This record gives sequence, C-alpha cells and structure tokens, in this order.
Amino acid sequence: MISLTDVTKVYPGGVAALDGVSVEIGRGELIAIVGPSGSGKSTMLNMLGTLDRPTTGQVVVDGHDVGRLSDAKLSALRASRIGFVFQQFHLAAGTPAIDNVADGLLYTGLRATERRRRAAAALERVGLGHRVDHEPHELSGGERQRVAIARAVAGEPPLLLADEPTGALDSVSGAGVMRLLRDLHAAGTTVVIITHDVDIAESLPRRVRMRDGRVVEDTGDRAGGAARAGGRGRGGAVVA
Ligand code: ADP
Repeated sequence: MISLTDVTKVYPGGVAALDGVSVEIGRGELIAIVGPSGSGKSTMLNMLGTLDRPTTGQVVVDGHDVGRLSDAKLSALRASRIGFVFQQFHLAAGTPAIDNVADGLLYTGLRATERRRRAAAALERVGLGHRVDHEPHELSGGERQRVAIARAVAGEPPLLLADEPTGALDSVSGAGVMRLLRDLHAAGTTVVIITHDVDIAESLPRRVRMRDGRVVEDTGDRAGGAARAGGRGRGGAVVA
C-alpha cells in the first residue's frame, strides 16, 4: 500500500525530521506509528499522506511514485486513496454533520444528492445515523470525531491515516473511536494511527517506533521484516 525507502526530510534550518526511514505498509494492515514528541511522527504522516515530498528517498503510494507526480495528480491520488482523521476533528462550524461529510466528497464530481446519500450511509456506519442534522457544537467530542471519521471514509479510500485520533477525547470516547477504527480495519481498510499513547500502540498488531527521525523498532513480521532489513541497508538479511 505504501513504501518509504531511505526517506529523509530536512526542514529549512537544517532539522532532519526524518533521517533515513524505510517502512513498508501492506494492504489491510492496522499499524501504530509511535514515539515521543519531536520524533518525526507528524513528518512521517505528511509523507504517508502525500501532504509533503521527501528531501531524498522514495515514497510510493498505491503504486504511484509520489516524487514523480505533478501537484494536481498528487492531489487526485490523495483525494481518492487516503482518508485523514486529525486530533482536533477539523469539522466546519455551523455545518450539519451530513454536510460536513458530504463536502468531503466534492472531489468525486458526484451530484449533491448522491454525495448526501453517501454521507448519510457513512454516518450510519459510524453509529451517527440519528445525528445527521446536528452541528459540531451540538455533538460530544467522541461524536465529532466519529463525524470526522465518516467524512474520511465516505469515499471508501483504501487507506485511513489518523493523527492522534483520541488525543482530544476522554478515555471512554477514545475507546469508542478506537473500536470504530478497528471495525474499519476489519472491513478491509488499511489503517495507520499516529500516537504517543503507549497503551493504544501496544494494543495494535504492528508498531513502528520513532526516535530522532529514525525507526528504532518495527514489530511487523511480514512487511515489517522487509522494513527492518531495509533499515539496515539494502541487500540486508533476507527475512523468511
Ligand atoms: P512529532 O510529530 O513526533 O512531534 P515532528 O515530525 O512534528 O515530530 O517533528 C520532528 C522534528 O522536526 C522536530 O525537531 C521539529 O521541531 C522539526 N520540525 C517539524 N516541522 C518543522 C517545520 N515545518 N520546520 C522546521 N522544523 C520542523
């Protein structure tokens, strides 16, 4: 689904936020990117989500080499393949849930009625079929995040990237959001969760641990084995 090979990202001023990262994420994985503040997680999310390009190295998303795509093609790739969920929800204030979700489908060129139909189905899927007309300020934090997740998955992208999705929630709401992300994964979506929450990371089948812009641990057995070998340099050990 995504492959990062020897990726570095150096920001103006010389900070190497990513310093030679190689990771393979297979279709259908559920994976945590974990690490302390400043370790490079957000920069990693920007790479995985094609929101930014690497300084050196290669990023391939769903078979497309990000470095070779024009900005327009990259936007189209992102819109059709990747759903995003953020800590602070990023919903439009004063806008009913159904329109918040439907507006995420503008890129599809579908008619408004069809966008709303799909938005209603997505809200149903996240358990908010009874809240379609509620505006964000009329919803709890957990419900807002579920609207944001409905928006992220309404177009049925194969990949969902969640940046600290429970970071602004109480533990009960956070657990509900995690259950929902697991359900989406079980239904076939590849889910990547950026988190500094060790308990959440430990609960997921694979963890990529970052420190100082490097991958210091990758518990993945299959794709992760390849990633670890890649991390040690190309032509490294073959992991059976
Ligand atoms: P995390 O998400 O794990 O907190 P980041 O990816 O945000 O880590 O940051 C990694 C490093 O890159 C940090 O040292 C941070 O200060 C630096 N950094 C992040 N974004 C920028 C930027 N836009 N310009 C300069 N330095 C940045």
